[in-house]
Amino acid sequence: KTAISIKDLHVSYYGNEALNGVSLSVQPGNVVGIIGPNGAGKSTLIKALLNLIPKDKGDIKVLGKAVKEVRKKIAYVPQRNDIDWDFPITVLDAVLLGTYPNLPIFRRPKKKEKEWALECLQRVGMEEFKKRQIGELSGGQQQRVFLARALAQKAELFFLDEPFVGVDVSSEEMIVKVLKDLCCQGKTVIVVHHDLSKANDYFNQLILLNKELISFGEVNEVIQSEI
Ligand code: ADP
Ligand code: ADP
Repeated sequence: KTAISIKDLHVSYYGNEALNGVSLSVQPGNVVGIIGPNGAGKSTLIKALLNLIPKDKGDIKVLGKAVKEVRKKIAYVPQRNDIDWDFPITVLDAVLLGTYPNLPIFRRPKKKEKEWALECLQRVGMEEFKKRQIGELSGGQQQRVFLARALAQKAELFFLDEPFVGVDVSSEEMIVKVLKDLCCQGKTVIVVHHDLSKANDYFNQLILLNKELISFGEVNEVIQSEI
């Protein structure tokens, strides 16, 4: 089943077009990078896919359905700077929040829920930090916790906005590995990124975007077409 299908998507803000007729479809089992300059509409595309902003025109199907019907199957990791932890929260609680994103967190987790959250933390190599406050962690460690939180959600689709910014090399390697594992399990991973330099290490498909779709396909093909 097609993971994402976008037909002639137009989105504008106050009359200014941010996306101008984007069409593409992504099959499951891919890690897809969305690359383009500042203001290219990368975040807008992700927000449209999450149904967070209205579209002027076009059709979006996720897992064959309208986005609002499958929202719970989509995990979203916003840019780290967009996440405002203005209350103290431990690493484990932050991940538990991913287990039931639509429920209040101030309930005692069941043993099974806690075990699942710990397993997700283990997958990103952050289990030993479970009692630490998120705010105390380095950028790379925070990003790994947010990834664990997304894993806890048991999603089919993962959207990550600039997950490699301000991240140390070992965290970067860990994130790449986890994304590849997801892709091997038949999940779909969409990652906003700002340049092509490491595209080959991070992704197997690329979407080059600049208001309109410049190019879409396997990483090597897309890079060849740009040179
Ligand atoms: P990117 O993520 O590629 O940097 P964005 O999707 O954030 O691009 O933005 C695309 C265009 O839409 C930019 O020109 C930006 O200024 C504009 N834009 C984005 N969000 C808003 C908003 N909330 N209100 C008005 N304009 C916006
Ligand atoms: P901004 O408009 O400030 O750039 P974003 O669009 O990046 O903010 O994110 C809006 C908020 O919606 C985020 O805090 C994010 O946690 C939340 N959100 C939206 N969709 C999901 C989802 N499927 N799973 C978890 N959180 C989500």
